[in-house]
Amino acid sequence: MSRSGSYKQFYERSINQPDTFWTEQAARIEWVKPFTQVCDFSNPPFAKWFVGGETNLCYNAIDRHLVSRADQNALIWISSEVEQQRIFTYRQLFDEVNRFAAILKSLGVGKGDRVLIYMPMIPEAVFAMLATVRIGAIHSVVFGGFAAASLATRIDDARPKVMITADAGSRMGKVIPLKPLTDESIQLSQYPPKHVVIVNRGLDKAIHYIPGRDMDYVALCHRHHGEVVPCEWVESSHPSYILYTSGTTGKPKGVQRDTGGYAVALAASMPHIFATKPGETFFCTSDIGWVVGHSYIIYAPLINGSTTIMYDGLPIRPDAGIWWKIVEDYKVSVMFSSPTAVRVLKKQDAAYLSRYNTSSLRYLFLAGEPLDQPTSDWIEKGLGVKVIDNYWQTETGWPILSAEPGIEETRRKLGSPSFASYGYTMKLKQEETGLGVAPNEKGVLCIVPPLPPGCMSTIWGDDRRFVKTYFGSFKDEQVYTTFDSAICDADGYYFIMGRTDDVINVAGHRLGTREIEEAIQAHPNIAEVAVVGVADTLKGQVPIAFAVVKDVSKTATPELAAQHEKAVMATVDHELGAIGRPARVYFVTALPKTRSGKLLRRAIQAICEGRDPGDLTTIEDASALEQVCNVVAGSVLFDLAPDTARRVAPTVAL
Ligand code: AMP
Repeated sequence: MSRSGSYKQFYERSINQPDTFWTEQAARIEWVKPFTQVCDFSNPPFAKWFVGGETNLCYNAIDRHLVSRADQNALIWISSEVEQQRIFTYRQLFDEVNRFAAILKSLGVGKGDRVLIYMPMIPEAVFAMLATVRIGAIHSVVFGGFAAASLATRIDDARPKVMITADAGSRMGKVIPLKPLTDESIQLSQYPPKHVVIVNRGLDKAIHYIPGRDMDYVALCHRHHGEVVPCEWVESSHPSYILYTSGTTGKPKGVQRDTGGYAVALAASMPHIFATKPGETFFCTSDIGWVVGHSYIIYAPLINGSTTIMYDGLPIRPDAGIWWKIVEDYKVSVMFSSPTAVRVLKKQDAAYLSRYNTSSLRYLFLAGEPLDQPTSDWIEKGLGVKVIDNYWQTETGWPILSAEPGIEETRRKLGSPSFASYGYTMKLKQEETGLGVAPNEKGVLCIVPPLPPGCMSTIWGDDRRFVKTYFGSFKDEQVYTTFDSAICDADGYYFIMGRTDDVINVAGHRLGTREIEEAIQAHPNIAEVAVVGVADTLKGQVPIAFAVVKDVSKTATPELAAQHEKAVMATVDHELGAIGRPARVYFVTALPKTRSGKLLRRAIQAICEGRDPGDLTTIEDASALEQVCNVVAGSVLFDLAPDTARRVAPTVAL
C-alpha cells in the first residue's frame, strides 16, 4: 500500500488547509459539474460541502468502473442461511440496478421521493439502494429486525412513495416472515406508500398480495428487462438517504446524509483508513440496515472499485470457521466487524482460526462498541492480522477516530481507537463547565464544526432538533456532542469511557459502566459482562453486573456462584478500586443485546429497578432478558431508592 507520508502531516493539512485538502480528495470521485465552493458554513452548525457540484452516488459506485472493471466481481453474496451464493460483476450489477431503477420510475418514484427498504441481507436490497440514488430518490433502509410499530413510525417520518420488502428472511435456518410485518406497519401508518415491491424468495409459502398495491419483483423484472436509466445528476447536498439512529426513545431521529460529501468521504477513507486498493476484496460483516453496512458493505468498497462481500448468516454457522473460509475462498484483504462478533467466536474452538489460509488478510477493523484487550489479543494472535479499533456513529457515516494504516502504520495502543481521523477537530470538554480537560482527564467527546464531509446534514425534517440535540450541550460554544466520554493521553490517543448518558454516580464519584466492565473482564473466567447503574438510597447508584462466564462449572451451584462473585468483585477492587465494585454480580448465559450487538443496558437497568424495560423490538434473544429477570427475581435489590424499593417482578412481557 503506498503511503502518503506521515499521519500527522496528513491530519494537520486537513485541518489547516481544509479547502486544498478536500479539493484533492474530491478528485477521487466524478463530478458532472464542478463545485464552486468547498464548504459553505455561513449558517452554522449546518455545513454544505462541495457547493454547486453535481454528481451521483450510483454513478460513482458502478458506471465509472465499467471502462476498466466491467468483468471484475463487484458483489459476492454468500448466505449460510439458505446455502446459496451469487456473484455479480460490475457489468451485471449495472444491469440489475438499472432494471430496478426502471421499476422504481415506472411506479412514479422521482428525484427527492423516498423509498423505504425493509429487506433481509439479499442482493436485491443492494440493487434497491443503488437504484434509488441513481434516480435521485432518497432511501430509508429499516433493519429487518424492527417490528411493525417501529416500522410504522419510520414510514410516517419518511413518507415513502414505495416500499420494498421480501417475503421473508432467515435466521439460524428459521424463516422470519417480513411481509406480514410490512402489511401491519402500513395499516398502522398515517402516510402509507402507494406501492409495495415484494421480492418473493419462496421462503414464506403463506405470502399474500394486496391487489393494486403489492407488486411482484420478478414480474416487474420481466417487464423492465434490459432497460437502462440515466443517472439523475444531483447537487452535492441533495439527500442520498435517511437512516434512523438505534436506541433512541420516542420519535426516531432520521440521520440525513448528503450525496457529494458522503461520496468523497467514503472514497477517501478506503485508501487512507481501510488501506484497501481497487480490485481487492473487502468483507464487512455488518447488516445493510446499519450505518456500517450502508458505508462499508455497499458504497465505500464500490466507489473504490473493490469487490465487496455481503454475508447473510451467523459467524458460527455452519461452524465458527465460516468467515475464515470466506477469507480463503475470496482472498479477502481487509475485514470489518464488531467486537461482539469476535467475542462470539472467542467462545468457540480457537482451532477454527487456523483451519483456513487467511494469509491474504492484512487488517481486521472493529467498531461499534468498546474493544477490550482480551478480545483484541485473541483475534490478533489467532489470525495473525492487525486489529484496528475505530470509533464512529451513525451520524458521522465514517470513522471519527481511527488509526490510518493507509497513510502510516502508527503504533496502536490497546483499548484505544487511536486518534482523530483527518477532517475532524476533536475537543474534550468537562460535562458541567464546558471547560477543556488535561491529558488523561475525562471529558465529553465533541467535534468542532463544521462536521467534515460525509457526516449528517441534519435530522430529516427537523433542523431545530438537529441543532438542539447535537449542538446544544454547552453554552460557551456550539460544538457537536457525541455523548461519549473519553480521555486523551499525552500521546494524543483517545480512549472511549462510555456514554455520558450511561454514567453511574456512586457516592458522588462518576464512573462509566464501561470502566467497571473492563475491570471485571480482567477476571480470566469472564467472557462478557454488562454493568448498569441501579438506584440506591445510600450511594445514589450502585453498579450491578451481569456476567457470562467461560467455564460454567465454576458457577454451577449457589455456593460456587457466591464464591465466584466474590472473586470477580476482588478483581474489580484490584483493577479499578473498591469504588467501582459492583453490588452484585449475577451469572447468566447470554446478555440482552440488539441484533446489531449493542447491549440493551437501559432494559437491564429498568428490570433491576422494577420498571418497564421499554421498546424491545430490536432484541436479539428475548430469553437473555428473561434470564436477567429471573436472576434478579426474588432478591430485594439492596437499599433501593424509595420509588424503586420493591421486589422485582419475576417475569416481564417481552
Ligand atoms: P451507533 O450510532 O449505533 O453506531 O452507535 C455509536 C456509538 O457506539 C458511539 O457513540 C459509541 O458509544 C459506540 N462506539 C462506536 N464505536 C466505538 C468504539 N470503537 N469504541 C467505543 N465505543 C464505540
